[in-house]
Amino acid sequence: MAEKFDVIVIGGGPGGYVAAIRAAQLGLKTACIDMHVGKDGKAAPGGTCLNVGCIPSKALLDSSKHFHHLQHEYGSHGISVKEASIDVPAMIARKDSVVQKLTGGVAQLLKGNKVDFYHGKGNLGAGRQVEVTPADGGDAVQLQADNVILAPGSVPIEIPNVSFDGEYIVDNVGALDFDSVPGTLGVIGAGVIGLELGSVWNRLGSQVILLEALPDFLVLADQDISKQAAREFKKQGLDIRLDTLVKSAEVKKKKVTVTLEDKDGESQLTFDRLLVSVGRKAYTDGLLSEDSGVRLNEHGQIEVDEQSKTTASGVWAIGDAVRGPMLAHKASEEGMAVAELIAGKPAHIHFDTVPWVVYTDPEIAWVGKTEQELKDAGVKYRTGSFPFAANGRALASDHGVGLVKMLADEDTDEILGVHIFGANASELIAECVVAMEFQGTSEDLARIVHAHPTLSEAVHEAALHLDKRAIHRGN
Ligand code: FAD
Ligand code: NAD
Repeated sequence: MAEKFDVIVIGGGPGGYVAAIRAAQLGLKTACIDMHVGKDGKAAPGGTCLNVGCIPSKALLDSSKHFHHLQHEYGSHGISVKEASIDVPAMIARKDSVVQKLTGGVAQLLKGNKVDFYHGKGNLGAGRQVEVTPADGGDAVQLQADNVILAPGSVPIEIPNVSFDGEYIVDNVGALDFDSVPGTLGVIGAGVIGLELGSVWNRLGSQVILLEALPDFLVLADQDISKQAAREFKKQGLDIRLDTLVKSAEVKKKKVTVTLEDKDGESQLTFDRLLVSVGRKAYTDGLLSEDSGVRLNEHGQIEVDEQSKTTASGVWAIGDAVRGPMLAHKASEEGMAVAELIAGKPAHIHFDTVPWVVYTDPEIAWVGKTEQELKDAGVKYRTGSFPFAANGRALASDHGVGLVKMLADEDTDEILGVHIFGANASELIAECVVAMEFQGTSEDLARIVHAHPTLSEAVHEAALHLDKRAIHRGN
């Protein structure tokens, strides 16, 4: 006899565990199934984000930033050290303990909210029957629910003739766990993961070469920002080669030789390690029985409507496995919205105001449309910008690189996009998201009092500049 729930969530990442907690808060009898096995061999809910994504990458970005600053940034403050060294296993152990704290915290939150947690693999059959194959090899368990939320996340894409071996040719999981600093690191794909993890190892002393297939750098971002960022990253030692197609990679004598094609024809490069970060794809292996009624789209994602309903009645899907950006906060918001819809409440997500952040140094953050997108759509807009080089707080803390760029509708002044390259861009963007969510105008931001001296004054000045009345720059 199958145990009966109001809601079963398959996947315990930031989409799934948040959906489960919200459903339980709303009084629904909820189960959450997650198959991830942590480094200690135990359940580790939290998904890609907590285990091998957002959090561990930020932990290593933080460690490597301290090391880099110690060597290269503190001299002007009058601080010097004789010999700085990095203990990679200690750095990785710190990262692992952060991960363990957070995944343990999620387990506690699920328990505290009375969500029944199953450690194993969930498979959805007809009539919202779910079979759980326990991770410890025990007997399969049968569950059934009025509603099932699929949140299985994503896995890295592999490219032809470049197979992961987990040691020399790695994905994010491997690059978060190197036991020493590779002398040379090749990175296929100069996207978000390539830039973040490439930065980590570059700061620790690796010679990092990023091989990017597209002719332009960071195409999702506003091109003014991408261009400044590319210049800055080059200064930092990241060697970004655009328009470069990798044909194959081969491991021989503990080295990886990559055959590539660029404007000069075919050539080879040899690295100590190779990170492949060319995007991710929905993970649906073993998730759906033939009679589940859930359809996948042409990209292999679970097909959903705007409310996250799949093609099977009472079955919903969220996060990386469905359309839209692959971001933890997008997955979580979808999770909360679906739980509320199931509980009969209204819920809606504005995909237009989902912020993006790339955690390089300086950080890149944006919300809304890029200038190119507005041009392509024939929207009339005005633009304002402000460089951090003219912001007092930025200069006081050696953060004078980058800018804030704001785009607003020419007629209504509604903010259409904000793009930031600079220190703490990840935090500064929040104000812009709020403004856009409330359909705010650049004048609203221009009239709001911003504390002095703060980096947020650059957002204020960009809004003022849009109306040709910036104080600390020419108009
Ligand atoms: P996931 O987090 O992938 O979770 C899915 C879970 O479901 C996994 O634990 C999986 O094992 C489990 N599962 C799958 N199938 C089954 C099944 N059949 N039965 C049981 N369990 C199953 N996003 C950001 O917003 N900010 C960042 O800074 C950021 N950094 C990142 C850095 C890296 C290196 C990577 C790889 C990703 C990063 N992301 C970041 C993306 C972010 O991790 C994802 O968008 C997010 O984790 C998606 O959440 P999810 O719940 O949809 O899926
Ligand atoms: P990505 O889409 O950000 O970048 C992949 C890059 O690889 C692109 O520039 C693409 O043009 C390039 N590429 C594709 N095929 C190639 C090939 N054969 N040869 C060379 N280059 C090729 O993907 P990612 O960096 O793997 O990250 C996956 C997703 O994870 C991201 O899209 C993002 O949604 C999420 N993520 C988010 C964050 C964050 O929010 N800070 C951090 C890491 C990952």
